[in-house]
Amino acid sequence: MSDTHDLTTGLIHHPYQPPATWDAVPPGVFKASTVIFPNAAALRSRVYTAKTGYTYGLRGTPTTYLLEERLATLEGGRFCILSPSGLAAIMNVNLALLGQGDELLLPNNVYFPSSDMAAAVLARWGISHQFYDPMDVADLAAKISDRTKLVWVEAPGSVTMEFPDLAGLVAAARARGVLVALDNTWGAGLAFRGFDQGADIVMHALTKYPSGGADVLMGSVVTRDEALHLRLLKVHGQLGLGVAANDAEFILRSLPTMALRYHAHDAAARALAEFLGRQPQVTQVLHPALPGSPGHAHWAATCTAAAGLFSVMLDAAFTPAQVDAFVDTLRLFKIGYSWGGPVSLVVPYDLGSMRADRTALPGHLVRFSIGLEAVADLQADLAQALLALG
Ligand SMILES: *Cc1c(COP(=O)(O)O)cnc(C)c1O
Repeated sequence: MSDTHDLTTGLIHHPYQPPATWDAVPPGVFKASTVIFPNAAALRSRVYTAKTGYTYGLRGTPTTYLLEERLATLEGGRFCILSPSGLAAIMNVNLALLGQGDELLLPNNVYFPSSDMAAAVLARWGISHQFYDPMDVADLAAKISDRTKLVWVEAPGSVTMEFPDLAGLVAAARARGVLVALDNTWGAGLAFRGFDQGADIVMHALTKYPSGGADVLMGSVVTRDEALHLRLLKVHGQLGLGVAANDAEFILRSLPTMALRYHAHDAAARALAEFLGRQPQVTQVLHPALPGSPGHAHWAATCTAAAGLFSVMLDAAFTPAQVDAFVDTLRLFKIGYSWGGPVSLVVPYDLGSMRADRTALPGHLVRFSIGLEAVADLQADLAQALLALG
């Protein structure tokens, strides 16, 4: 075939190759569905799980492999798998490790969509689940049966922020040979190391601190054991859970500043939690780094930092309408889910509708995610909105 083509073809099959000597601070962003093999033999012999080459965009690109390596290092793990959201990463773990007749154990303060997945999806496929009290290691131990194949742990618990005896929970599961997956979104690999606590699997919603921009959804699953990694990776591939290079690029750009941001969120959140704790309308502050918060001693024994997230209980004497008015009166705090971005967020939670089997905390729970605004401005905003409570 001649190399002289119609212009239309020439624009697609152009012979020019830029010089290969490019080096710069940001890593390259490689995008593909199709990956080109040098010959048919390479196409036949390449195995995507080995990560020694590329097979198809969904199975990984230089950009996603690079992010995976950096995240594995952050956690002190060896292998990492990226999924299109934190919740998809949880699904990856559940569907890889559980089958018909198996049971899953979840803390009763687990990230709510995770328990919803168990109740609405896993249950239909013959996978049962039970909740354990994360503040009671003996309760977890008592609930483990021969059918238990996976225990999720989370520290602190979503929304109510109790910090458990992680190492104790992990040991109870390990004593029965049950795998433990840690949702380490809050710790972000910075407050404590999941593998130091004995977890087999460390999952993150990269959507939060690793992104830092409130602009990308992604999740990761890090492991140390190669056989376990391959079990997870095969199901990940079979489910089609790859991520786009442009999304991975956002996380790669944000990772270098994550520790600085995390500690800034931490310092501001502690200052504002202490401020709210001094207000007469607030009956309890739920922030694991503050004395008096459930599990504070476990936090102190486990962590060197905290995320910028906490909840408060407002006096039960207030009506739900007054609590909504407080939330609506905030100006800098925006009303919305998620956390880890530059903008402070607030969400009023109806605990009764979320936690069937836990003792309700008295009062109204409001959760704050502290962003990167000046602390004095955030404090003034809280003070003016507290007036709406009366
Ligand atoms: C946000 C979050 C998730 C899910 O992450 P998405 O990317 O929003 O799906 C899972 N666990 C915890 C603790 C979270 O905060």
